[in-house]
This record gives sequence, C-alpha cells and structure tokens, in this order.
Amino acid sequence: CGIVGYIGEKQAAPILVEGLKKLEYRGYDSAGVAIYDMEKIHIRKKKGRLAMLEEEVTKNEAKGVLGIGHTRWATHGAPSDINSHPHCNGDCSISIVHNGIIENYMDLKEGLIEKGYIFHSETDTEVIAHLIDDLYDTDLLSAVQAAVKMLKGSYALGVISSKEPDKIIAVRKDSPLVVGLGERENFIASDIPAILNHTRRVYLLDDNEVAVLTKDGVKVLDKYGEECGKQVFKVDWDA
Ligand code: GLU
Repeated sequence: CGIVGYIGEKQAAPILVEGLKKLEYRGYDSAGVAIYDMEKIHIRKKKGRLAMLEEEVTKNEAKGVLGIGHTRWATHGAPSDINSHPHCNGDCSISIVHNGIIENYMDLKEGLIEKGYIFHSETDTEVIAHLIDDLYDTDLLSAVQAAVKMLKGSYALGVISSKEPDKIIAVRKDSPLVVGLGERENFIASDIPAILNHTRRVYLLDDNEVAVLTKDGVKVLDKYGEECGKQVFKVDWDA
C-alpha cells in the first residue's frame, strides 16, 4: 500500500502513477488518483493492477497540477472500485488517501450517519473524509488537525480540497510518510523511491506531525500546531 501526492506546475497524474509504481513492492489490490483541474476534483480508481489505473487515466484523462494517489491493501471492505481510494466527502470538495487502520471508525461512522452523512464504501477510511467535512469551517488545516485528534489507530493521510486548491495537507501516525522538497513543486510519499526521480531533499515526518505543502513551500507543524524546525534529509543513495 502506498501514497503519493503532487503540487506544482507539471501534470500531476503521470507523476502520481509513476510514483505509485515505485511503491508496488509494498503490495496492493487496487489503485487510484484524485486530480484537481482548476474547477473540481476528479477521481479515477480501479481494482487490480496499476496498469488498469493507467489505462483508465489515459482513456479518461484527468488534467491538473494538484493531486493525490494511492495503492490500497484492503483491511476493511473487499477490494473493489468503490472501496479503492481516494475517498471523498459528499460533493467531493474534499478528497483523501489513507494508509493504515482506523480502529474507531464504526463509532465515528454511526455519529456521522446520524448527522445525515451518506457512505458509499465499506472502508474505515471514508469516515475521515466525512469527518473533515463535518469539522470544516473555512480552514482545511484546522479541520484535518481536529479530525486526526478523533482518530484511533494508524494513518498516513494526504488531503486536498477544491475550496483550498493551493495546498496538500499530510499527517501521519504509525504509518510512514515523507515530504519531498522541489523547486516550485512539492511531494508526499510513503517512501523515498516514489519521488527520487524528482528530488533528493526530504522531510521524514514523525508521528503526529502535520505538513502543509504549497507549490512554493512546506510547513511542518508538531502535534501542538507549532512550527517545528524540521531538518532537511538529503538522500545520497539510488533506488
Ligand atoms: N484501511 C484502509 C482500507 O482498507 C487503508 C488500507 C491501506 O493501507 O491501503 O481501505
């Protein structure tokens, strides 16, 4: 299972698919991408090999310079197109990819259903998308910070929103996630090889750290929301 995210000036879809290929060794049963095209978020996702997703994004092109991608290793809900990530809130103004397991997803799901939220998949992950929606006021970062406080379990998360398309929010706990630092472009990935063709400068996120990526920079906040002076790690090996 793996995560890749891109924000910059290049087409995101090929970068995401290429990155996901480098994470194939981690194992997966389905794959997908969410791409923002300056108007809305488009989801392409498929059960099966990455080649199926590649075919889908070729047939049904999604253009945009902001996106997140995922390979899934199903833990909750069978491998299927619908259960594949990315997942969305109701109008897909928020989209997320997740690696890990949300242990309290049933409780959260029941609460959200009571509030009128409609679920489309059987995954534990989908609760996170609706939870962020429920907590969203005007600031995606605060909504994600509030949402993760309510989660029990493990997660690496990449979040984008058509309401704030200038950023990717990334956060992790007990599941790996790194940030790649480029020139007028930045990346997230489960593992360094996924982005090594683009940059050798990375932040290795620690548990409970939140990264806010824009095209021009990356801010890393600790669990108290304070900016932590994150050290750049220089990768000196080849994949
Ligand atoms: N628990 C999530 C699911 O089953 C994420 C699995 C993963 O890490 O790929 O959809």
